[in-house]
Amino acid sequence: MRRLPVIAGALALLLSACAHKADSSRPSTTLGMTLGAKIHVATTISTLNSFVQGVGGEYVSVKNIVPIGASPETFAPAPQDVATVADADVLVENGAGLETWLDRLLRDAGRPNLRVVVCAQGLPVKNLNPHLWMDPVFAKQYVAKIRDALIAADPAHSDAYRRNAASYDRRLDDLIAHIRQQIATVPPSHRYMIVFHNAWQYYNDRFGITTLGFVERNPGQEPNPQQIAQLIDLAKQHHVHGVFSEPEYSPKILYAIAQGAGIAVVEDLYDDSVGTDPRVRNYIEMLTYDTNVIVHALK
Ligand SMILES: [Zn+2]
Repeated sequence: MRRLPVIAGALALLLSACAHKADSSRPSTTLGMTLGAKIHVATTISTLNSFVQGVGGEYVSVKNIVPIGASPETFAPAPQDVATVADADVLVENGAGLETWLDRLLRDAGRPNLRVVVCAQGLPVKNLNPHLWMDPVFAKQYVAKIRDALIAADPAHSDAYRRNAASYDRRLDDLIAHIRQQIATVPPSHRYMIVFHNAWQYYNDRFGITTLGFVERNPGQEPNPQQIAQLIDLAKQHHVHGVFSEPEYSPKILYAIAQGAGIAVVEDLYDDSVGTDPRVRNYIEMLTYDTNVIVHALK
């Protein structure tokens, strides 16, 4: 059963190669795009990039705006980002307040009518927290929205987009089952986390981990001594095993909390951005890796 999509994919590739030859004599479609040319998709963050690659496959060329390892919350666009947006057929953003810099970028690029996919639209946002993609059940909705936008932008390849999206959706189902099974190996009394920034709310809510506290309340804002003392108290009360952070943030303050509570610092979680480490280059690898790190730290 597993081999079937691969064969279908190879067939589609062959057929499309033929179609491209036939189409090269046609100047353009009604969309103003040369048939056979890839559509240009811009994504705001690298995790969304994974979904577009999965759904678009060989028919899209994807450019990402916030560099890998940078924080989308404190990002400032550069001239090359204006060029990326100016050149895009579709732009994929998270929404829910994450990309505060995007409206200006769209204006600067002179693309008021650009087709924009707002992935988090319609999903249940909690506490103004935009990190909905960290719940792979919500990621399925992201994939569906991206599929629909690619079909609208490039109807000639609708079948491929539908097939790729269905295949990615199955991979997300496998991922969800894997995470559930991994978290089940952690005793319930250990399922507590203190995190650097609140990227883990939706993942934790989905998989039954309590987010006891987070260090950074607003982007770039360090906690005051009273808040640090509160986090140390919480960590002690609940016998929290570690404080968690990402490689892109400075963990200095985390060491103060960890030392105060006598617990470990885990500073290699990926959430806002995938990584360059071969284990975390795309969304599915990233959540598989993170889950492994969390489960080991909490046990
Ligand atoms: Zn974030």
